Amino acid sequence: MASPQDFPGADDLLALLGDLLPDAWFEAVGRGDEGEVLRLRSELDNPATVAALGNAGWVAPHYPVEFGGRGLAADDARKALTLLLDWEVPHVPRGSGLPLAAPTIMQWSSDETKRRLLRPLLAGEERWCQLFSEPGAGSDMASLATTAVRDGDEWIVDGQKVWTTFGHESEMAMLLARTNPDQPKHQGITYFALDMRAPGVEVRPLINMAGQLEFNEVFMSQVRIPDLLRISPVGDGWGAAMTTLGAERHALSGTRKKKRKASDEILGGKPYAEVEAVAAAPSPIARQDLMGDYIAGQVLAMTSQRARARAAAGHAPGPEGSISKIAKASSNQRLQETAMGLLGPAATAWEPGDHEAAEWVEQFLRTRANSIEGGTSEIQRNIVGERVLGLPREPDQCKGAPWREVPRS
Ligand SMILES: Cc1cc2nc3c(=O)[nH]c(=O)nc-3n(C[C@H](O)[C@H](O)[C@H](O)COP(=O)(O)OP(=O)(O)OC[C@H]3O[C@@H](n4cnc5c(N)ncnc54)[C@H](O)[C@@H]3O)c2cc1C
Repeated sequence: MASPQDFPGADDLLALLGDLLPDAWFEAVGRGDEGEVLRLRSELDNPATVAALGNAGWVAPHYPVEFGGRGLAADDARKALTLLLDWEVPHVPRGSGLPLAAPTIMQWSSDETKRRLLRPLLAGEERWCQLFSEPGAGSDMASLATTAVRDGDEWIVDGQKVWTTFGHESEMAMLLARTNPDQPKHQGITYFALDMRAPGVEVRPLINMAGQLEFNEVFMSQVRIPDLLRISPVGDGWGAAMTTLGAERHALSGTRKKKRKASDEILGGKPYAEVEAVAAAPSPIARQDLMGDYIAGQVLAMTSQRARARAAAGHAPGPEGSISKIAKASSNQRLQETAMGLLGPAATAWEPGDHEAAEWVEQFLRTRANSIEGGTSEIQRNIVGERVLGLPREPDQCKGAPWREVPRS
């Protein structure tokens, strides 16, 4: 394995990996034996491995030591994370804490709040979910009606959220609440960390169309949040939410480099190679579909490569990032549609207990959400139009009006 090992603390990391993983792991990865790596992964205590790496600062090595990192420069941190990726070591805490909450906290919170929130997040001891969307505020998230009223050193929260992925298994949540209804809708919002175990928080599971429990409704009734858990300055929640949503678009755009070519853990969907393998003797139409899927995958991969190269060169995100979320959603959905076509009747009926057959349909159904979750494709197109192409902004008749005077459905 040729991972770079010339970063501060590399010996510590290698020694820790030696303690956490069996020798067979390194041998299997070294000879590229994916089957054996998968078997060893199934025997590994993933949360304990992530916790050990997180507590030693290796989950976010570029973060300062006092906030749970190793204080490494960006290049050195990238080398450390590349080493973990190359050795296929589980190092990402479950939930949306690392990709979404952590960068927001790092950018917006006080040092005291960072010290409280980041270490358990990075160790996976506190898993995070996102309490942004409401029944009356999805695409138009700034209309949100959940309120937080100050009471001394605490805030009292009332309201309802929906679509909360991982809400049933999270200890903490990113919460947006209205703290000043007399200001225009984008102002007067504050961003909090909510302890999901607090009295007054009720999580009601929702079952998705693939029959799985993935997201929830969350009701908050007189929930008390200490001011220490306020992530943004009071009234600056919208700006902080933009940090989270930017990170979410990136996470859902397929631009992150992945080692394994299996179903995408977040987006769902079978990878191209598996779909192609189904096509034993494809008809000309199926061949054309597959070729379209292949080309879409290659174009997306090149766009992602350009975005990564830009980021590595220290440039601000360009238009590649904005279009990747839309392109990934449509190409992933299209690929699963090709798979359904290739499977034919096998995609509509199978023997009870045939999990492999059922999984094709589950993955197909899961990817229908790709053009909704993290902001719909229509909204992403608005963003591309307005912020990348410089087209006129959508008209808003209530612009500047206090939130409490804006009509709501
Ligand atoms: C699988 C899944 C997981 C999710 N997880 C979370 C989560 O963990 N936390 C969270 O807070 N939210 C989550 N969401 C919610 C998601 O962010 C919202 O569903 C999304 O923003 C759309 O909001 P909405 O469902 O209210 O639809 P609406 O906003 O009501 O939109 C309905 C339709 O109108 C279109 N539309 C609306 N406004 C415009 C406009 N201005 N221009 C053009 N078209 C428009 C939309 O594109 C859509 O087609 C999740 C959603 C899904 C599907």
